[in-house]
Amino acid sequence: MDFDDTPQEAEFRKKARAFLEQHLEPLDPDKIAPSMLGEREDDDAIKKAKEWQATKYDNGWAVLTWPKEFGGQGLGRLENVVFGQEESKFKTPAPIYGIGHGMLGPTLMAHGTPAQQEKYLKEMARGQVVWCQLFSEPAAGSDLAGLRTSAVRDGDEWVINGQKIWSTGAHFCDWGMIVTRTDPEVPKHDGLTYFIVDMHAPGVECRPIKQINGGAAFNEVFFNDVRVPADYQLGAIGQGWQVAITTLMNERVSIGAGGGAGRTKDLFRLAAECRKNGRPAIEDSSVRQRLANAFIVSTGLKYTGYRTLSALSRGGTPGPEGSIGKAVGAPFSQELAAFAMELQGAMGGVSDPSCAPQDAIWQESYLASPGIRIAGGTDEILKNVIAERVLGLPGEHRADKGKPFREIPSGSNK
Ligand SMILES: Cc1cc2nc3c(=O)[nH]c(=O)nc-3n(C[C@H](O)[C@H](O)[C@H](O)COP(=O)(O)OP(=O)(O)OC[C@H]3O[C@@H](n4cnc5c(N)ncnc54)[C@H](O)[C@@H]3O)c2cc1C
Repeated sequence: MDFDDTPQEAEFRKKARAFLEQHLEPLDPDKIAPSMLGEREDDDAIKKAKEWQATKYDNGWAVLTWPKEFGGQGLGRLENVVFGQEESKFKTPAPIYGIGHGMLGPTLMAHGTPAQQEKYLKEMARGQVVWCQLFSEPAAGSDLAGLRTSAVRDGDEWVINGQKIWSTGAHFCDWGMIVTRTDPEVPKHDGLTYFIVDMHAPGVECRPIKQINGGAAFNEVFFNDVRVPADYQLGAIGQGWQVAITTLMNERVSIGAGGGAGRTKDLFRLAAECRKNGRPAIEDSSVRQRLANAFIVSTGLKYTGYRTLSALSRGGTPGPEGSIGKAVGAPFSQELAAFAMELQGAMGGVSDPSCAPQDAIWQESYLASPGIRIAGGTDEILKNVIAERVLGLPGEHRADKGKPFREIPSGSNK
């Protein structure tokens, strides 16, 4: 793969930059990269994010890789990366569309009926309504197929009861995609059905969860007799697992290799500013070794990301290899933040951006990075995926395989 812009990409970059310059304030290239983590999504931030998304959509710069009939631009993933690279040089509002545009839109394209695609996708692309993902439950995260939220058919509707948790952005979202159990008599993967759900419907209750970094980006969501019309079903009854896999594969790619990869420049600058044994820390040999290691890992992540991208741009679909970037990138981002805080000495423990070095970006990153190691597949689960599905090693022992879900022991039915 040639990493320089082709003449067409260079032209596209120029156009993207001209559009961005017209609408956004550029970041100072000599200042640190802004935080991608821990954004505070208050009403004002959501309003600004919606305004920016509408501006992009109205000018032909939204959801670039989506087909035109769904509100996108029908462009390749490379153009999308070029636009992202340029956009990252400007001050942008909170990124609230990752789940909708990166995961749920592609799921609707793969499994939705033409009527569902027509009804939801353009609206999702313009971003005036926001979508959330309602998969995890208190006792079903890594073992998602063990979920217990039920959907029972009643005439032309389904009635949903149960609890979801860790639902990012659910408190400001208008629509959600939910996986439910519709048949407890068959093995756990076979009894699931996937639905679209109106987050403003009677019986949906969101309770934000306070996080260690002070934000409350995700929620517990309770469903009490929530009625969903039959045409909100996405995919066939009992095929919810297959639909969910499409969402999850897109999730791993969209979380992907980004973790920490772009932050080594800030780390080098920090090492030059901080002191160790009376000299700039960057002159210390142990610091230099760790900086070199950070550079090696971040470069590896960058090219692993390009490799995935190059496979996808040749028409592939996100596969288990997408897990590699996240399996390495997420722990790396935590390590990088810990190292940066160590370099700061006592100031490493100060998280107030008005006085901590580099606007406390590393402190914030350190508090958010354990979540990145869990969201979209924990470190251990990704290693299992790589072991079984990339390396072909023997699978884990699965004691509940083939058993009707109702017979699997749990706290509530033993
Ligand atoms: C920042 C963030 C955002 C999130 N956003 C959403 C969202 O929008 N929507 C949503 O539905 N969910 C969301 N989640 C939930 C996320 O998908 C789950 O937290 C994740 O799947 C892990 O599930 P769990 O928390 O139940 O942990 P568990 O599955 O209970 O895991 C606990 C521990 O056991 C380990 N473990 C579990 N099974 C195995 C195994 N087979 N082999 C080895 N080790 C194992 C895990 O690695 C982990 O260390 C979010 C989570 C985070 C942190």
